[in-house]
Amino acid sequence: GNELLKVKNLKKYFKISKKQTLKAVDDISFNIRKGETFGVVGESGCGKSTAGRTILTLYDKTDGQVLYDDIDVHSIPEQERFKLFRNMQMIFQDPYASLNPRSTVKEIISEPMEIHGLYKGEKERLHRVYQLLEEVGLNKEHATRYPHEFSGGQRQRIGIARALALEPEFIICDEPISALDVSVQAQIINLLSKLQKEKDLTYLFIAHDLSMVRHISDRIAVMYLGHIVELTNSKTLYDEPLHPYTNALLSAVPIPDPKIEKTRTRVLLEGDLPSPLDPPSGCVFRTRCPLAQDICAHQKPKLVEVEEGRHVACHLYDPDIYEMDANDVTTL
Ligand code: SF4
Ligand code: MG
Repeated sequence: GNELLKVKNLKKYFKISKKQTLKAVDDISFNIRKGETFGVVGESGCGKSTAGRTILTLYDKTDGQVLYDDIDVHSIPEQERFKLFRNMQMIFQDPYASLNPRSTVKEIISEPMEIHGLYKGEKERLHRVYQLLEEVGLNKEHATRYPHEFSGGQRQRIGIARALALEPEFIICDEPISALDVSVQAQIINLLSKLQKEKDLTYLFIAHDLSMVRHISDRIAVMYLGHIVELTNSKTLYDEPLHPYTNALLSAVPIPDPKIEKTRTRVLLEGDLPSPLDPPSGCVFRTRCPLAQDICAHQKPKLVEVEEGRHVACHLYDPDIYEMDANDVTTL
């Protein structure tokens, strides 16, 4: 079909010590369609960045599969992977840390082209650098300057230009706006949307809250302690969240529509995020869930498709466990 990326039962564990294993990503599955923006949202430590990095093979996987264009990215030879990675790029949260302070903007943007042997010759590459700078809202004059001479928003634009240098089709945006001033965040979101349309890009967009991803994402997966707890299209997720955790995350986001605001029950997250080294038994969210039942302590809920394209991992919605209509529990 039109699915560009398939993530199947992906696991990424880190061995911390002889006794301790950090299950950073614990059996997640989703597909990303060509041209869409797929949002991944969750608190820090939920595994979203680790998932992104494992998809790009910056980390080896522990188990499962990542298929890009039906190619298993973790099992192809190094040389093929290198070629494949022209198509897959990443934009990082901290544009300053990810740009070499001793390189000029020109060097930063042309480096990937040199590595991949694109645009033979200095002149062609420079031309391409100028073109990319224009595309991200900067200009020629910026090419000879260094990262510290730019504002945070401009540095992120440089990071975006570098990611575009190889003409990728898929970009993982790892919290690209979290480190920026609120006034600049919308500009970067708008830029990413514009580039997506112009270049037919597919995005995996990682964020720690739901306020910004809403406007850019077609579908969103909510993660908690290494698990996907809800996955559905963006509008449904915002208007009728099912999982108690999604409800809690949304309660922290102001709702511009007063009609929806009135019907929304505010759920406050109690307690701290449990240590990912020692996650709760059963449902990982149970220690903070206002609706937790006995079963939640000893049985892990499966991610169930409750309606077409609408997935939730909570016993309350699993028809095999509760014969409850989803509507009965949306009002908590
Ligand atoms: Fe809450 Fe239980 Fe649902 Fe987990 S499975 S979210 S603890 S009700
Ligand atoms: Mg992160």
